[in-house]
Amino acid sequence: MNALSNRIKSIPESATLAMAAKAREMKEKGVEVISLSLGEPDFKTPKHIKEGAIEAINSGNYFAYPPVNGYPDLRKAISEKFDRDNGLKYGPDQIVVSNGAKQSIANVFMAILNPGDEVIVLTPYWVSYSAMILLAEGKPVFVRGTIENDFKATAAQVQAAITEKTKAIIFSSPCNPTGSVFTRDDLVDFAEVLKNREDITIISDEIYELINFGDKHESIGTIDGMIDRTVTVNGFSKGFAMTGWRVGYIGAPQWIAKAANKMQGQYTSGNCSIAQRAALAALNGSMEPTKEMAKAYEHRRELVYKLLKEIPGFEVNMPQGAFYFFPNVSHYIGKSYGEIKINTVNDLCMFLLEDAHVSLVTGEAFGDPECLRLSYAASDEDLKKAIAQMTVSLAKLS
Ligand code: PMP
Ligand code: GLU
Repeated sequence: MNALSNRIKSIPESATLAMAAKAREMKEKGVEVISLSLGEPDFKTPKHIKEGAIEAINSGNYFAYPPVNGYPDLRKAISEKFDRDNGLKYGPDQIVVSNGAKQSIANVFMAILNPGDEVIVLTPYWVSYSAMILLAEGKPVFVRGTIENDFKATAAQVQAAITEKTKAIIFSSPCNPTGSVFTRDDLVDFAEVLKNREDITIISDEIYELINFGDKHESIGTIDGMIDRTVTVNGFSKGFAMTGWRVGYIGAPQWIAKAANKMQGQYTSGNCSIAQRAALAALNGSMEPTKEMAKAYEHRRELVYKLLKEIPGFEVNMPQGAFYFFPNVSHYIGKSYGEIKINTVNDLCMFLLEDAHVSLVTGEAFGDPECLRLSYAASDEDLKKAIAQMTVSLAKLS
């Protein structure tokens, strides 16, 4: 019997996590897979952050349920961070700490969407946005940027997609999966289009803020009139190499913060107490390790750009942030190797997993079926080896 709900049946499995699981399975069977599928720093959590957690455990003071929205001192530190680093004014009572930015975003959709409400999703988008919107019974409306424009959808496209049912707009900058970064001018253009629709909530996912190789990071919430309707999402996974600790947060208008608190009060009771103390140590401590990691990503970006450009049929743009490349690989669609036929980029990713032993993620999961995503959060040696193996496998296709 399959008595699953329509709700769960309406969403696919997370493609990033599914590909990571497949790579893990192959590794367990003894195949040496180079994993470039999961967007996860390959660095260790910095020492002072680990020490924050160890001290919290040893103090014996952090074993009870924490406040649902996060410890007051952590929310105060986040509020100060928003003000200091981003020019965003969110008071501590407008902050909600969650089990990763993933839960932060899910909370917001659950809090604001009614069945049929539309959410404009700037595309390519991070894999879980559409599934989360569907789970909240909303309708994703994809507004697509193309590689010619660095995958950045424009304000005019957003304007054309707005209907009376539009309830929210979501995007990430720096963007997962494209690495594109919206400039202040881009954000001003979006704000102009949204200005007369105060009922539209803006969800600005800034989790890659600290991995930005270009100009200063910009937040749409700093543009006139936007802060009262903008939810700014951020977290510790990427900038502080803390994916497994699961700490993310929002700064939000009071009514959304309250609802997110209510939501997670029923679902999870909030975020792990010890992980929150580690997060506080991250905010209070040195940013040097973060800067070092960002430097390493920038160096790898140059390396990978050069190598990917040499692969015939790969159309590659230069990402400005995050740690992904998102080449257009449509050149390979329709090609084959013996019995293996490449009908989709998904087929191509499976071929590269099995033949080149490199795991990647199909662009389809991010709203662009002509591209694939390669995470370069890996060592130089692995990156060089992976791309060499991919090149050999791709040359077999004709
Ligand atoms: N937003 C984006 C754009 C992401 O790439 C990720 C993946 N880590 C998340 C949110 C969620 O991050 P986490 O739940 O690890 O904080
Ligand atoms: N956000 C990362 C990625 O896009 C981690 C996986 C996930 O959370 O889905 O690969």
